[in-house]
Amino acid sequence: MRYLPVFLDLQTGLVALVGQGELARAKLRVLVAAGARIRWYSTEDEHDARGLEPGQLARIEFAKDDPLVADLTGVVAIFCAGASDVGVAMSLRAKSVGLPVNVMDDLAHSTFIFPAIVDRGDVVVAIGTGGTSPVVARRVREKIEAILPARIGDLAKFIGRFRKQIHARIPEMPLRRRFWERVIDGPIGALVLSGHKDDAETALNSIVDPSAFAGAEASGRPRGHVTLVGAGPGDPDLLTIKALRALQDADVVFYDELVSPEILDRIRRDASRIAVGRRVGKPGIGQEAINQLMIAAARAGQRAVRLKGGDAFVFGRGGEEIDALRKARISHSVVPGITAAVGAAAQFEVPLTFRRKALRITFLTAHKANDADMVDWSAMTDKQMTVVVYMGMTAAPSVRDGLLAAGRSPETPVGVFARVTRPDAKAAVGTLEQLPDLVARVDGGPAILVIGDVVAHSAPWRRQNPTSLISDLLEAAQ
Ligand code: SAH
Repeated sequence: MRYLPVFLDLQTGLVALVGQGELARAKLRVLVAAGARIRWYSTEDEHDARGLEPGQLARIEFAKDDPLVADLTGVVAIFCAGASDVGVAMSLRAKSVGLPVNVMDDLAHSTFIFPAIVDRGDVVVAIGTGGTSPVVARRVREKIEAILPARIGDLAKFIGRFRKQIHARIPEMPLRRRFWERVIDGPIGALVLSGHKDDAETALNSIVDPSAFAGAEASGRPRGHVTLVGAGPGDPDLLTIKALRALQDADVVFYDELVSPEILDRIRRDASRIAVGRRVGKPGIGQEAINQLMIAAARAGQRAVRLKGGDAFVFGRGGEEIDALRKARISHSVVPGITAAVGAAAQFEVPLTFRRKALRITFLTAHKANDADMVDWSAMTDKQMTVVVYMGMTAAPSVRDGLLAAGRSPETPVGVFARVTRPDAKAAVGTLEQLPDLVARVDGGPAILVIGDVVAHSAPWRRQNPTSLISDLLEAAQ
């Protein structure tokens, strides 16, 4: 760490800004937002305050003298933005009188640097890269913006308002800390974050009876919770913001084999990670054992996440897990994920439905050949139906035979989409007749099979059959 981040109270003194143009005005806006009073030395004859609002202008003193010799008494920091050469001279002057100075985009002449900021009212996050790369700082800021709830500043303010009162009621520090953690993580925190401050206040007032609270604390641990989280097909950027939050809040994560290492990387560092899924060639610990692990974790007061590939409710046995949690009366919630079919559709541009051509979608699983034999293929003869087969690689010949026997054309376009949204994703497209060969071409799973005319609209099909563009144009012209 080369620079120490600190939060400067700009309301205690005056800040000097030297410069002009949009760069100076942008800096003025940030400084005003931080409550500063600003003495502005323009490096042009006139101050160009275009676009600044009356409220902002009211906080600005328009200085006419030369900043290089002006009286700097009462100034707590100096900013130079759009100041050209004057910035360097001003930096030397600031250093000689011991005032902190920032010259925009000039690390050598700055004694402090200006961070990228996430501003949520009382909650402010400052991001620095030691002046090396503002672009990296901006990327980090975007990531933080995405995971911080919009009203997190309101939550801080809300707690600030009650702090003294709670301090008096619950003098013991550890108990008080647990109290606040429960408030933040429980329904009261959720009320503030969803904009219902008055309800949150009523709820808080109703629980600040310390004797009741101490009793609850003594009688057991905090309530645990299980969140079923869909991890999506592999690309960690396809996690939802809620999924990311759950991973960041977890005490323990039970994950499946399908979850990619890049996603496991997003789990809070201190959380325990427990692999519970089937491994290739080896059985997993079994559904009942997984249910018991989740229930035990929640009963121990932990925040447990059950992390699954794709979506928990699409061939993910999420239903059984929810049933077990309900039966055990464990508090739980579900965060959806992008299922493999939807990931493949986006990556390879397969519109799963298409106006007038594909009006229905069927998701089915055919894990083993005899699973495929149990499928009622006669329900899938409809040309306007897109059929997506999960876990269907081994059973591909039976899938083909079943659909052909039911009367689907051997010319029906099909795609095998493997490891979708991962760096080594691969697609093979062709006709229903060729399905088993296509499976062999993708070099291993996981893969889904998509069967239906929509595959002819996919990007790989277009690459493989450029002439079909012409037939489409002809069709459109008819
Ligand atoms: N719940 C998951 C599906 C689990 S069943 C979901 O919603 O996606 C496992 C099957 O899902 C695999 O056999 C394969 O058919 C499919 N699958 C999962 N991840 C995949 C990926 N990244 N690419 C292609 N298929 C995938």
